[in-house]
Amino acid sequence: MVDDFHLIELQGVTKDFGDTLALDNINLYVRRREFVTLLGPSGCGKSTTLRIIGGFEYPTEGRVFFDGRDITDEPPYRRRVNTVFQKYALFPHLNVFDNIAFGLRIKKVSKTDISARVKAMLDLVGLKGYEKRGVDQLSGGQQQRVAIARALVNEPEVLLLDEPLGALDLRLRKDMQLELKNMQQRLGITFLYVTHDQEEALTMSDTIVVMKDGRIQQIGTPKKIYDEPKNAYVADFIGESNILPGVFIRDELVEFCGKPFRCVDKGFGSGTTVDVVLRPEDVAVGAVAEESMLTGTVLSTLFKGVHYEMMIDVGCAVLKAHSTVKQEEGSRVGITVVPFNIHVMSRGNAPDS
Ligand code: ADP
Ligand code: MG
Repeated sequence: MVDDFHLIELQGVTKDFGDTLALDNINLYVRRREFVTLLGPSGCGKSTTLRIIGGFEYPTEGRVFFDGRDITDEPPYRRRVNTVFQKYALFPHLNVFDNIAFGLRIKKVSKTDISARVKAMLDLVGLKGYEKRGVDQLSGGQQQRVAIARALVNEPEVLLLDEPLGALDLRLRKDMQLELKNMQQRLGITFLYVTHDQEEALTMSDTIVVMKDGRIQQIGTPKKIYDEPKNAYVADFIGESNILPGVFIRDELVEFCGKPFRCVDKGFGSGTTVDVVLRPEDVAVGAVAEESMLTGTVLSTLFKGVHYEMMIDVGCAVLKAHSTVKQEEGSRVGITVVPFNIHVMSRGNAPDS
């Protein structure tokens, strides 16, 4: 179980690469045994954050704490963290077994223990029987799995993982997501994980840190971030959303598309311009009826495997709706959204911290 102790903490960390401000005043903590994911598009500063924690980059400003101690000036080899890099660096002259066994041999673990632990790891990453292969004979995905096994076999207290599943195909990625999560919980390892894949972040994490342009946009549980995105950027990045301009009328009442709608949000202040988020799965589409809140025309209907995805022109906007019931293209439909599913956010990308 996650405990409250802040095992890793960044205080006011800024990283300036000359003409790029890669990180702009990052404040963040990772609790012991927590699975924290840094999520954001390419270039937002995820890898730089990990590299600063690993000791491979030095912050321009700010301090890094580990286990309550300032480690900003400590070299990587003195830090009690293991890193799985985006570009796995295996020893090319060693076979799979020896690559994974490397750290255990340094720690003088007994031969029988090494053999058992390496075998268990190979099982875990789906490379049973590959012990004797040279790593140059492996595909990119297989090499990446060896890199994960090599880090996990040491049962580190903290593991930093930089897009570790990026080179794997979808099926294997899904399997490995589950395996990594199981392992993290079973061994009680603290994970700081980096991905640009929001689905991966939502399924694996205890806590997600959404980043953009070197700044933190929101920190929260997957559910909180999905249900209550702090701004349009987070809403858009985390899931498919309809984001409409609106005006907050008063507590629990917001206007968009020229009409007032009941909502559950409070405290934005009368007359404040806001963004209103409607998730496609919350947009209920049916026949036009008296209780319809909006009416529109179906522009397109596409079967997506589980549900139909429909684009509906409601005049002020085109809304995306998901439903298991198909509506024909060109038909007139009525739309309702219950107050609980109308999310009001402050306008723009006002960051979290
Ligand atoms: P991410 O991992 O989220 O894709 P990075 O942390 O790698 O982002 O990079 C953040 C920003 O810092 C990018 O604009 C990148 O080009 C820049 N950057 C990263 N490392 C260096 C470096 N060593 N020198 C100059 N710029 C860098
Ligand atoms: Mg990166």
